[in-house]
Formats: sequence, structure tokens, C-alpha cells
Amino acid sequence: ATTEIRLLLLENISQGAVAHFKSQGFQVDWFPKAWSEDELVQKIGQYHAIGIRSKTKITERVIKAASKLLCIGCFCIGTNQVDLLTAAKAGIPVFNSPFSNSRSVAELVIAEIVSLSRQLGDRSREMHDGVWNKVSKGCWEVRGKTLGIIGYGHIGSQLSVLAEAFGMRVLFYDVINIMPLGSARQVETLEKLLSESDFVTLHVPELPETTGMISSKELAAMKRGSYLINNSRGKVVDIPALISALKSGQLAGAAIDVFPSEPGANGPHFNDQLNSWCSALTSLPNVILTPHIGGSTEEAQQMIGEEVSQALSRYLNYGSTIGAVNFPEVDLRAIAADEKNFVRVCHVHANQPGVLRQVNEILASHNVEKQFSDSKGDIAYLMADIADVSEADIQSIHDRISATRANIIT
Ligand code: NAD
Repeated sequence: ATTEIRLLLLENISQGAVAHFKSQGFQVDWFPKAWSEDELVQKIGQYHAIGIRSKTKITERVIKAASKLLCIGCFCIGTNQVDLLTAAKAGIPVFNSPFSNSRSVAELVIAEIVSLSRQLGDRSREMHDGVWNKVSKGCWEVRGKTLGIIGYGHIGSQLSVLAEAFGMRVLFYDVINIMPLGSARQVETLEKLLSESDFVTLHVPELPETTGMISSKELAAMKRGSYLINNSRGKVVDIPALISALKSGQLAGAAIDVFPSEPGANGPHFNDQLNSWCSALTSLPNVILTPHIGGSTEEAQQMIGEEVSQALSRYLNYGSTIGAVNFPEVDLRAIAADEKNFVRVCHVHANQPGVLRQVNEILASHNVEKQFSDSKGDIAYLMADIADVSEADIQSIHDRISATRANIIT
């Protein structure tokens, strides 16, 4: 029964998420701060699920002490505060919120396109310094200009729609073939995108292949007088190369929201903590610098609460692992409430031969209505809906599956 499910929410997770869990009949213990490893080791054994942000570390020691833990929710984008592999091996899926702030980033890029095109940052700074400088030279409308999007995922594709509504022509480059939205067009090479775009914007993940993806050669391949926007990850752009391209006039401006190394807290750290070549950016004209705020909006915070709490309750109620970052993604259409004699079997097991045969032998005397199984690395997950099952059958199925060799949940 769901009333027995206990959740631990740390780090001031939204009241919307608390209300959602309570509406599902779960018991919720909510705390505003992160817990230390020792505190977690001491208390996590009572909980079936935990919700954290980026400060709580779920280490191997914590996972070993988490004897009842079924799932972990990271109410943020990143998941490197969790030992994902150890969690997977313990049969614990980890969920996060991958696209709650995509729209916020896309809107910021639109603002930056217009701001760069009109030198808004410079005009505003001059006015703050008491200087009236009414100019039109080098200022442009964005209508009819070409936007080149590198990485057409959650953010890139949202941006594509917004930019077309502004009358821009949209090209994109991605390593996979993706259906273009609206009248956007995928190009085959990065060079083609760079040579045709008036604005180039980056929306790729940080990977070995994307580190330094935009350096001297790529900047030289861009149109003279074009603009570069980076709201993805700091290491994707080679900053010294960007500075040279801005100084030489090859680029007419840039907007940078992410940096190769970023301060851990708000305050006057910018020039101390960033490399000196990063702070050289602050003295260049038509360069918009923002402190990694692409996704920082009230709406995105609220969406994070909704997305992660829904993912956790879908797992706790139905076993669905759609969206889990460390686990095979498995789901079946939910059983209708009036189909009372149905039972859903969820079996996380070691990814080895013979498991499905063993489990299906255990289920053999029941009608298997639906079944799905998938694997990721060493972990596999089988879901089956079976009909006409009594309480006694449930216990027997549970005990027999628990006794199979590949069962990894102890
Ligand atoms: P996503 O995974 O939905 O999309 C990334 C796209 O990049 C995918 O389509 C992928 O195929 C493509 N890609 C991967 N490698 C590539 C390569 N070498 N060349 C071309 N395309 C490649 O990601 P998303 O949610 O759109 O996020 C994009 C980036 O934005 C990520 O780096 C993310 O961390 C960052 N981000 C920044 C902020 C911010 O505050 N500035 C907020 C959210 C996300």
C-alpha cells in the first residue's frame, strides 16, 4: 500500500513536489538543507525514496546503508552528485529533470541575438556611465538573417521555432539526423553551417568530441562580422581563439553564459576565479557575459519540481523507468483501475542469459498480458502484467523470483 512509502526530501525541494507526493498517499519528511554522508548513512535506511539537489552526495557508503531505497530523484539537471553505477547495481534508478529549463535557455538566446545585433549591452553600459551615443552603424534587424544552431536537441529545436517566428532562416548541424521543425534545414557539415550563418549558437552536451569544438579554424570559417553565442558548456569554445576573432573583427560580437571554470558561489569572484584570458573578455565591445543563467527562471524551478516528482511517483506506483539516467528505460501502459486481478511484476536483475526463461517459468501458470524487458550495462529490467493472481500467488511469485540466481535486490 502506498501509505507505507516514505520519502526523504532534502535541500528545500519545492512545496509543489511535496503536495504531489502527499496526493499519492506517500509520507514525506522535508528538510531545507543538505545532509552529510554520516547523517545519510544513519537515517536513510528508513526511506523508500530520496529527493536531493546538487549538494547532497549519494556515495557508495550511503547506497550500502539504504536498505529500503527504491529510487533517487535529483531535482536539478546534473546527476554527478550520485554514484550512478553503484546505484544501478543496487537496483536503484536515478531520475533528473533534463528539459525543464530548455525553453528558458531558448528565450535567452533570442534576447541575445537581438541584443548583439543592436549592440544593446554597450549602449546600456554607456548610458549607465552617463554617455549618450546614438548610432546605427553596425546595428541590424534580425529579420531575414541566418541562425546556425549546433546541436538540435531539447534547446536547439525550441530555439528553432522561436527564431523562425522572428523571421530568421534556420540551419542546424547535429551528429544524428533529426526531423527539422518548421522550415529549418539540417546541414551535413559544421563547415557549411559556419560559412552560411550570421549567428552561430551552441547547444551540444559537454563531451570529448565537443571540447574545443569552436576554435581558431572554426571561427575563421564563420562569415566576417557574424556573432557567436554559447549557452551550452564552457569548454566547448576555445576562449583565447574567440578573443582573437573578436579583436580582429572577424566576429562582430559574442554572448557567453558558460565558462571553462565557474565560481561555486555568487559574489565578486569573477575575475579572481576565472582564468585571466576569460576576464580579458570583459574589456571587449559587444560581448555579453552572463553568469550561467540560461536556465535560471522561476518557471524552470517549478517545472523541475513537477518533472522529477512525477518521474519518482511513476516509478513507485507503476515501475516505469522512463527518463532514468542510469537504468534501462522500461514501461508498459498502466493497468486500468477496474482490472483488479492484474498484477505488475517488476524484476531488476543482472544482465545475464537465461533470466527471462526462469522468470517466465515462474509466471507460467498465469496469463502474461504484457511484457517488456531491456538492459543497460550490467543491469536488466523486466516488467510483466499478469492476470488472475491471488494474494498468495503474489507472495509465491515474489519469493520464487527473489531466489533466482540473477536477482540483485537483496
Ligand atoms: P540535448 O541532449 O537535448 O541536445 C544536444 C544535441 O546535441 C543532441 O541532439 C545531440 O545529438 C547533439 N550533439 C551531440 N554531440 C554533437 C556534436 N559533436 N556535434 C553536433 N551535435 C552534437 O541537450 P539540451 O538539453 O538541448 O542541452 C544542450 C546543452 O545546453 C547542454 O550542454 C546542457 O548542459 C546545456 N544547458 C545549459 C544551460 C544554461 O544555463 N546555460 C541550461 C540547460 C542546459
